[in-house]
Order: sequence, then structure tokens, then C-alpha cells
Amino acid sequence: MSTMSKSVLRRLAIMQEANVKECKVCKERKLRILYGKFPSMNNKYVDEGGALWSGRICPPCNQVRIKTKMQQIRAGRKIKISQTEAEVILTEQEKK
Ligand SMILES: [Zn+2]
Repeated sequence: MSTMSKSVLRRLAIMQEANVKECKVCKERKLRILYGKFPSMNNKYVDEGGALWSGRICPPCNQVRIKTKMQQIRAGRKIKISQTEAEVILTEQEKK
């Protein structure tokens, strides 16, 4: 995540003709930039700040979802999971 610079993301957005998608949670139209693939070969999308989309859920809505899920995961399994790990797991789940 840290290797993504704003200029790189902006260039990608222009190359992809600004892929604007409506978030299925907040219904706002936001920039969704194709940024490589997950190990499972699903496409990985980020916003202009480099935050991860989860399917058709925008990064801010996804953060709220991740926080809730992480609390559930921690409470249920008593394991430690990083925010990044949770993001990847949830994003992968969203595709299935
Ligand atoms: Zn949203």
C-alpha cells in the first residue's frame, strides 16, 4: 500500500479513463482504479488515495465494514489479525 504514490494513481486513473463506480452502500459515485490483482487473480481496485475497494463497496464504507468484521473475528476466534489482512480476506470474500 505504501508504494502507491498519488501521481501513479492519478496516471492510472487517466489511462483507464477514470473508472467511476457507484458504491452499493453510500450510493456515491467514486473513482475506482484498477491496481493489479490478488493472488487469486481477482482484480484489485483502489481509490485515488490508494485505499482498497471491496467489490462494489467504496473504501470508506469498506473501512466501516472491516472494523465491524474485525471485532467479530477477534471476539469469535480470539486471534490477532491486521487491518491489511482483514481487507484482503474481506475483499476476496466479496468476489465469491
Ligand atoms: Zn460507499
